[in-house]
Amino acid sequence: MKIIDKFKADKTVYSFEVFPPKKDDDIKTIYKTLDGLSHLNPDFISVTYGAGGNAVDNKTCQIAAILKEKYKIEPLAHLTCINSDKSEVLAILDQLKTANVSNILALRGDKNPNEIEKTDFIHSSDLTEFILKNGDFSVAGACYPEGHFESETKILDVLNLKKKVDAGASHLISQLFFDNECFYSFKEHCRLANINVPIEAGIMPVVNVRQIERLVSLCGASLPNKFVKIINRYGTNKEALRDAGIAYAIDQIVDLITNGVEGIHLYTMNNPYVAIKITEAIKNLL
Ligand code: FAD
Repeated sequence: MKIIDKFKADKTVYSFEVFPPKKDDDIKTIYKTLDGLSHLNPDFISVTYGAGGNAVDNKTCQIAAILKEKYKIEPLAHLTCINSDKSEVLAILDQLKTANVSNILALRGDKNPNEIEKTDFIHSSDLTEFILKNGDFSVAGACYPEGHFESETKILDVLNLKKKVDAGASHLISQLFFDNECFYSFKEHCRLANINVPIEAGIMPVVNVRQIERLVSLCGASLPNKFVKIINRYGTNKEALRDAGIAYAIDQIVDLITNGVEGIHLYTMNNPYVAIKITEAIKNLL
């Protein structure tokens, strides 16, 4: 099934993100996560793609296939192109076709000095076009409520996002954010730029201090006062911070759904406990 069709029903789409086990870990270590998440009945589960990934050792594709076959949940396979040429992308598309996976999140990926940067695809929009020409896939794209860090201005980033949508991205998933006002103002810019595809809000429940430090350095999400106060007060109390992080995410989601968001994409960090707590709190709102 194409994920885009899920947005046609009169309900908020609700989805999860998981990441594959580390290179040398057995693929089966993901089962514990998927067992927990599958009971929550998400509309789909997306599976991230590691930098420098390839068709030979493609855990993303394997997990997408497991989601489809074993758990009967629609997978969204992430695919980055910065380290791949056309023949390598074609090999992965073949794997996805064989596994009956028809939804892909097309990404450029981050520049990494330790990986060889290839030039067949410059932007995710190039990958989106290529995927659509080479199979019966539905393609989603990433978007950035606070602007992508390489873009000089937020407006320029939205204009580039329009190119992604024009290339065929039929739904967008946002980078995580902690201030809903950023998301609302971004959505307004999107509508002004004539971007009319569904936009899912990416929500990351922050449940430990290490995660916060990593997040802020990686994606530069701004931290509202209310959020900083939680970290300052509960940063040294593991259980309290976890519970406050879950409560903060629930509060964000309630506000987003109340304001008519088209979808919520939960960055689960492979932690079913957190996803279960959040889903229990919001399931009647979806
Ligand atoms: P692009 O869309 O190519 O954008 C990159 C920059 O180029 C932006 O500044 C944009 O404004 C500009 N740009 C875009 N298109 C054009 C154009 N046509 N012309 C001119 N300029 C343009 N990374 C991983 O390695 N693996 C993952 O699984 C993964 N999953 C992600 C999921 C989500 C929901 C998000 C938000 C990010 C994810 N990332 C992942 C990170 C992502 O790869 C990085 O943020 C990367 O820096 C940009 O990828 P992109 O697809 O948005 O790139």
